[in-house]
Amino acid sequence: MAIHRNNFNNDFSCNFHTLMIYSEDLANAIKYKDVNANLVNKLKRKKPGNLDQTFQDLHQQVFEEIDCLKCANCCKTTSPIFYMKDIERAAKALRMKPLAFIEQYLKVDEDNDYILKSAPCAFLDYENYCTIYKDRPTACREYPHTDRKRMVQILDLTLKNTAVCPAVARIFTHLNV
Ligand code: SF4
Ligand code: SF4
Repeated sequence: MAIHRNNFNNDFSCNFHTLMIYSEDLANAIKYKDVNANLVNKLKRKKPGNLDQTFQDLHQQVFEEIDCLKCANCCKTTSPIFYMKDIERAAKALRMKPLAFIEQYLKVDEDNDYILKSAPCAFLDYENYCTIYKDRPTACREYPHTDRKRMVQILDLTLKNTAVCPAVARIFTHLNV
């Protein structure tokens, strides 16, 4: 028992330390909000040819350092958009009718998209695992969208995500294009 208890304490302090580091990433994004906004404006103007590759390299580097299972801030604070395909897939996984799924979990936002009724996401468990992982929405699979093509088109969204995702916040600290 004592060993389990000690392990639990070590895990707890380790996780706490990691969370503090991720919080610092998010705090830095707030602190350097104007610097990052200026950088985004510059990138939108200059459209550097190596922008996608730069983001992809930084995405890979940063996600080798950051463990989503110790974070889950996206699932705790924001909602993915659920398109009909996402609704049908998730509803099927839960053995529900799509309409019942919509009624139970979703609402329509100001852009007429289906999003979660509440945060944290109802499918996030207490260990930060997604209980519909295999059938999660495409937006969840692709979040935080920093390894996609034509990054220049989503720079404003990526800048917004520095307030949610420590990985994106950290990518911005390394961005030098
Ligand atoms: S994608 Fe970003 S916000 Fe979501 S769990 Fe991973 S690091 Fe955290
Ligand atoms: S469906 Fe899964 S991955 Fe998407 S927000 Fe909910 S818990 Fe996170």
